[in-house]
Amino acid sequence: MTLDPKDLPLRCRCGRVRGVASEIAPYTGFRFVCYCQDCQAFARFLEWRDVLDTAGGTDIFQMPMGRVKFTAGKDAVRCLCFSSKVFRWYTDCCRTPIGNTAGPRFPVVGLIHSFMGHDAVGRSRDEVLGAPLCRIYESSAVGPLPPNAPAPPSLSLFALRASRILGWWLRGLGRPTPFFDDHTNAPLSVPRVLTPSERATLLFRG
Ligand SMILES: [Zn+2]
Ligand SMILES: [Zn+2]
Repeated sequence: MTLDPKDLPLRCRCGRVRGVASEIAPYTGFRFVCYCQDCQAFARFLEWRDVLDTAGGTDIFQMPMGRVKFTAGKDAVRCLCFSSKVFRWYTDCCRTPIGNTAGPRFPVVGLIHSFMGHDAVGRSRDEVLGAPLCRIYESSAVGPLPPNAPAPPSLSLFALRASRILGWWLRGLGRPTPFFDDHTNAPLSVPRVLTPSERATLLFRG
């Protein structure tokens, strides 16, 4: 398969679920590291801790949802929710975290690094996506931040992110989305909803 240089192959750990993210460059998305408890609980639910950095951070690239496609294994995609706001996607085959979305109308997916196949194109994550622009929710970090952790967000970064997302929304780049039905808005897979106490066990286990 010939890939456009701006195409990023997507792949779960075992290779059953595959896809492609198009138009990938530092200026077509927003990369950050999230230390929030929900992202940590998601990684622990999947029993895949190496998705997190040493302080519990998840490396996420937010981009328009309509630029992600699954090319294989779509039936193995699953969804987890801690709340009604965020849909967290993963693969059933090998429990690879895919990314987070905020419902069918919000045009953004936060792709998680574990589903990215940048190695296949011989380039590092920093080369493909640019370095992370900021960190968020560091008060939930579970250890000292790594020495290369990005800075907290500045006001101008908030404004940059807001203007990018507004642009994606205005240009209709949230559709067609692989995560929700274009007509009914139903999620691709019925979300499994964890109760707060189930979530709590994920937080204190380790
Ligand atoms: Zn897999
Ligand atoms: Zn988070």
